[in-house]
Amino acid sequence: MWNNIFEKLRKRMTLMYAFIFGMLILLVVGVTYCLVWYAVLMHEKEGLVAQIYHEAEEYVATEEAPVSDVAIKNGSMLAFLVKPDNKTVLLDQLQGADAGDTLKDHREDWPEADNTAQMLRVRDDVGERYRYLAAVAPVKDGDKVIGRLYMFKNMEFYYDAARETLLMLLCIALLLFIPACLLGYWLSKRSIRPIGLMYEKQKQFTADASHEMRTPLAVLNLAVQGLLEDSESKYSPFAAETLQMVKTEVGRLRNLTDTLMELARRDDLGLPVKKCEVDLVALISRVTAQFSLVAERKQQRIINDVPERLLLHGDADSLNMLLIILLDNAVKYSPAASEIILSAEMKKDTVILKVADQGIGISDADKEKVFDRFYRVDKVRSREQGGLGLGLALAQSIVRLHRGKIAVSDNKPCGTIMQVTLPK
Ligand code: ADP
Repeated sequence: MWNNIFEKLRKRMTLMYAFIFGMLILLVVGVTYCLVWYAVLMHEKEGLVAQIYHEAEEYVATEEAPVSDVAIKNGSMLAFLVKPDNKTVLLDQLQGADAGDTLKDHREDWPEADNTAQMLRVRDDVGERYRYLAAVAPVKDGDKVIGRLYMFKNMEFYYDAARETLLMLLCIALLLFIPACLLGYWLSKRSIRPIGLMYEKQKQFTADASHEMRTPLAVLNLAVQGLLEDSESKYSPFAAETLQMVKTEVGRLRNLTDTLMELARRDDLGLPVKKCEVDLVALISRVTAQFSLVAERKQQRIINDVPERLLLHGDADSLNMLLIILLDNAVKYSPAASEIILSAEMKKDTVILKVADQGIGISDADKEKVFDRFYRVDKVRSREQGGLGLGLALAQSIVRLHRGKIAVSDNKPCGTIMQVTLPK
């Protein structure tokens, strides 16, 4: 079971590391892409403003148009010259270009302040998209401003290049992600190793300590039993009561060490499970008969609701222990003269075992915790009943060993239902 938990933890940590590395790689790719794109755009903006000045000087000196006919035809560069009033057109080199009319339709988006440039993303009536870098600069004849020259540089090439670069960067990121996953796997293994070692040591300690305590406890038990049964010894009522108390506590300790050893053994998946075909109906009636005597003392009734035949592939001893734990709890935590129903049924490929009592019930907050070791809802009450807080932990361990599930729910109108689902 614990090997399973460590395996799950390792998988989860690998996923977490892979996610973190993946995010970091994407962040680096994203930031690099944005920075490069920003640098290119700034460079192009400055270049375009400088080009306008140059073309403006040439236009004043030689009246040569800022943009060649070829450039207009293929739409790579366009120009528009107006008087300083921004209304009277002196030269229209948008005419004749595919994007010309669309750019004119979006005149309100053109840069307003001199020597500034901005990106224009426009669409024509049929949805064709144009992306131009637009800049404006004054045209001077000596000191006199005679006009304003707008120039438009087609940026489609840059967008295409950017898209290809981004695609390439993403491919590189994907290639980097594979070693990142392997690194995550390696890191998670390294992180878990100390926990695993610590857990192994703790488990070994529990098993050793329980084992070492068994013999002295058995001796103590025999000694107290001997003292209590020794007819020649005369005890005061106090001494007799104390001896009885010692006997009860020694019994509890023996129980505790046995359960702890059982749990430590089961935690190790190496525990040899003798799985075979188990006749559940026979097993249930055997355990019920065993408990009927205990239940009768509290005038409780154990009712079996089982089909005629129900076979399960599992470990008979463990399943026996599982039923004992659940019935024992049902008897312990139910009032006198109540009913306990132990049912079993086959649903699809699973066997469902239920122990329903009419007892004190378990609050929602405690439903998950009762499977923890040494957890008892009411410590005093559980102790009075001889409980150690290990029964359900052991039950869960047995169920997991069979790759099943155990769940607790409320019985109506009062009490608890312990439901075990086991694959057939
Ligand atoms: P314990 O030996 O104390 O019974 P378990 O691990 O078997 O330990 O159960 C843990 C706690 O869960 C118990 O102390 C008790 O408070 C609660 N519990 C278990 N079964 C029932 C039940 N059928 N009805 C009410 N409470 C229960």
